[in-house]
Amino acid sequence: MIANEAPVYHIGIPNPMFEGDLNLYVIAGDPLTVIDTGIGTPEALVVLEAGLAARGFSVEDVRRVVLTHKHADHIGLAREIHDRSGAPVFVHEDDWDGVANLDARHEEFVPLVRRRLQSFHVPESEIENLAKTLGKGKRLARQTEAEKLRGGDRLPISGVDLEVIHTPGHTQGSICLSYGRHLFSGDHVLPTISPNIGAGEMRRRGMMTRFLNSLDRVAPLASEDLIVLPGHGQPFSTLLERIEQLKAHHGQRERAILEVLRQGDPKTVYEVARSLWSKLPGYHLVLGTSEVNAHLEKSIDDGQVREHDGRFSAV
Ligand SMILES: [Zn+2]
Ligand SMILES: [Zn+2]
Repeated sequence: MIANEAPVYHIGIPNPMFEGDLNLYVIAGDPLTVIDTGIGTPEALVVLEAGLAARGFSVEDVRRVVLTHKHADHIGLAREIHDRSGAPVFVHEDDWDGVANLDARHEEFVPLVRRRLQSFHVPESEIENLAKTLGKGKRLARQTEAEKLRGGDRLPISGVDLEVIHTPGHTQGSICLSYGRHLFSGDHVLPTISPNIGAGEMRRRGMMTRFLNSLDRVAPLASEDLIVLPGHGQPFSTLLERIEQLKAHHGQRERAILEVLRQGDPKTVYEVARSLWSKLPGYHLVLGTSEVNAHLEKSIDDGQVREHDGRFSAV
């Protein structure tokens, strides 16, 4: 007999971050499983409680939490759910530190961003303006003890496996989760926006190449009855089409950067980012420069760009 997958419900959690409302998913089987949690604010918690109640559940009923990656809009309420229900929290081993060691990572965050922007040759005044605003607001996530996942791990729910697919790119520990006809795609494949690549991993290089390879890793899951359930935005079924769009977007961006590098003297990451976007307000300064940097690393690895003292030129 083939087991039937348990019903999957959606709760939209308000989110002040760029991508918009966070999609929390409930797999209403045994064990009752929540995928991603929303930010850790009282307002988000009220929405989560109401969403669960509408299906006849409470926070205390949750038996397992699975996080698609370490960002605050996905992990914020994990500690609350864990404390009230005892549910274990699962996250990929490469993002584990950003959940289970969050307090230490939080302490290091502003100095890390500062060093990173300095290495991109961002003017000191712009770094100062941004640094003043960082780490000042209320924290949107609390440190939570967590279990480590690896690609290929299977977590059965009502007789059907929730399978972990490791998709590094947006973060190193980003995962997608396959469950019957459903693919929970986190921020790896989003329906209308292209996930940021580069800013999620300030200590690693090569994230753009990894992201593109990770798109190829989920492509074989495409099928006629597949439902993709993203971390933000509406469900969709056109997985291959969306993957091609994301690849085309990055191909275009890569060519635009090479075009900039062909004109005039070697350029810094900041100068390239400025020529692509006239404005990089607030945290977009980090997102934009980091993504340009991720492209430049890929182009260096592909033999199209060379770097000398933080300045890049086309080969
Ligand atoms: Zn994210
Ligand atoms: Zn997100």
